[in-house]
Amino acid sequence: MTQKQLKQPTSVVTGAAGFLGSHLTDLLLAHGHKVIGIDNFVTGSVDNIVHLGGNPNFKFIQQDVTEFIFLDVPVDYVWHFASPASPIDYLELPIQTLKVGSLGTHKALGLAKNKKARFLIASTSEIYGDPLIHPQTEEYWGNVNTIGPRGCYDEAKRFAEAMTMAYHREHKVETRIVRIFNTYGPRMRINDGRVVPAFVSQAIKNKPVTVFGKGQQTRSFCYVSDLIEGIYRLMMSDYDLPVNIGNPVEMTMVEFAEEIIRATKSKSKIVFKPLPQDDPKQRKPNITKARKILKWEPKVKLADGLTDTIAYFRTKV
Ligand code: UDP
Repeated sequence: MTQKQLKQPTSVVTGAAGFLGSHLTDLLLAHGHKVIGIDNFVTGSVDNIVHLGGNPNFKFIQQDVTEFIFLDVPVDYVWHFASPASPIDYLELPIQTLKVGSLGTHKALGLAKNKKARFLIASTSEIYGDPLIHPQTEEYWGNVNTIGPRGCYDEAKRFAEAMTMAYHREHKVETRIVRIFNTYGPRMRINDGRVVPAFVSQAIKNKPVTVFGKGQQTRSFCYVSDLIEGIYRLMMSDYDLPVNIGNPVEMTMVEFAEEIIRATKSKSKIVFKPLPQDDPKQRKPNITKARKILKWEPKVKLADGLTDTIAYFRTKV
């Protein structure tokens, strides 16, 4: 073993107080990393990292990552997860969403270059827009409305991927790009507007479950522990092109609402509300690459993931 492999690795996680960033931080600490978490709490919450208080391997910096990131220690891995990530959040914070995806990615890449660290960008299935290819493969270039309500997020992430490849080609930074599909689990914000917190909190309270449009649009939901494991494997792999990570079990939003009502033993009824503009009609990852390159596929069944998620939300409503 080389000296580098023997020493304790240091990871920087931007967005460490967010849903995914905090679960990633937990996994890295379990793998023996030192973790420097950065978050400005725009959408993240101290509740997601409070259990790490006093952990000598965890250090937290409250900072907006669109500003210069100064660290006076060696860094081995930079995981750039900071961003508003729900349609309601980026409707309310369009400029911050664009800035963290562009300027924030630039700063995080600059840190990785400076430290000779490996860099991973949390990209998204949103870069495929309202996809015309189904299921979505990494080769698909997407169908995004640049000026629509989701454009700020979709284009920021597309820019982030382009910037990542530019640093890879120009500066030879070791880079990884994960395209994250719909993910759920404990620590999602109850009022972030996404379908899982919305349906679960409505069902727990026996309130109407709000299905948008006719509810025939599809999504595929990945449990957070599966997703984070896939992302960890990607960072540790030697593959530098984008990889989809998500669960390919696809369902309509009506089916999903029925599943949540069943799982919560709720008396709720489904009500239909207007479909938001540019809501993708169908989404399901092709995960052939992840299976082959990372030997990864999701393990947690929807019923089991929902049990944990519902238990979490019962403590929050
Ligand atoms: N959705 C819904 N009711 C809600 C919230 C969301 O029917 O109360 C639908 C939304 O229109 C979309 C799907 O659920 O088709 C997933 O929405 P989410 O906001 O979770 O994420 P997206 O996949 O659209 O980024």
